[in-house]
Amino acid sequence: MVYGRRGFGGASDGCLLCGQRCGGSGLCPGCLADLPYQGPACRRCATPLAPAAGGRLCGDCLIAPPPFDEAVAVFDYAEPADAMIQRLKFDGRLVYARILGEIMAIEIERRGISLPRVILPVPLHPGRLAARGFNQAIEIARPLAARFGIPLDRRACRRTRATAEQTGLDAAARRRNLRRAFSATVSLTDADVVLLDDVMTTGSTLESLALAVRRAGARRVAVWVCARAASVRGG
Ligand SMILES: [Zn+2]
Ligand SMILES: [Zn+2]
Repeated sequence: MVYGRRGFGGASDGCLLCGQRCGGSGLCPGCLADLPYQGPACRRCATPLAPAAGGRLCGDCLIAPPPFDEAVAVFDYAEPADAMIQRLKFDGRLVYARILGEIMAIEIERRGISLPRVILPVPLHPGRLAARGFNQAIEIARPLAARFGIPLDRRACRRTRATAEQTGLDAAARRRNLRRAFSATVSLTDADVVLLDDVMTTGSTLESLALAVRRAGARRVAVWVCARAASVRGG
């Protein structure tokens, strides 16, 4: 993959990945088609499954389902979606949030996924938010909320503890790290919500947030992520 030499988002009509003219849509049709769209996956946790098992449940979810009802991952966390997410988060290139959010919306529509009443982006701890200047989950959620006409509630949940970086921790350590990391600031009695994040790895962050919104009364909790890393639940 050769990335555009003119700078990301710098050219008003160039594809962000290959630089070819594409009329300002962000990605040319070729790059759009080549993105690593997720194949068959567990409908409960979005972990990849063998083709014949697509739409069913993985072994982990049969034994111990997560505290959310459904999970949707649009991409595998693979090139170039991983690089797009990293440029958004670490280089502050918000144009990627717009494009990723728009592609997510198109895919969710195409797959016939049921829509929630409200989108709750995974909150960052205030310290990390101040350092980064934006929350990538909120930025990715904006085009989805706009396209579906669903409210985006940025204040219903907050991160109550600054958790250690998850990278390098095994699943049990991630869960300990995240215990009671989130709380709801409002009652969510009978709510039908989607928790939205950029990347899901073991799912422990989303499980922790799902438990918090369940404690606040949410009836249906789904998860939408831009990309799912290959790691399975509990591993
Ligand atoms: Zn292109
Ligand atoms: Zn599963």
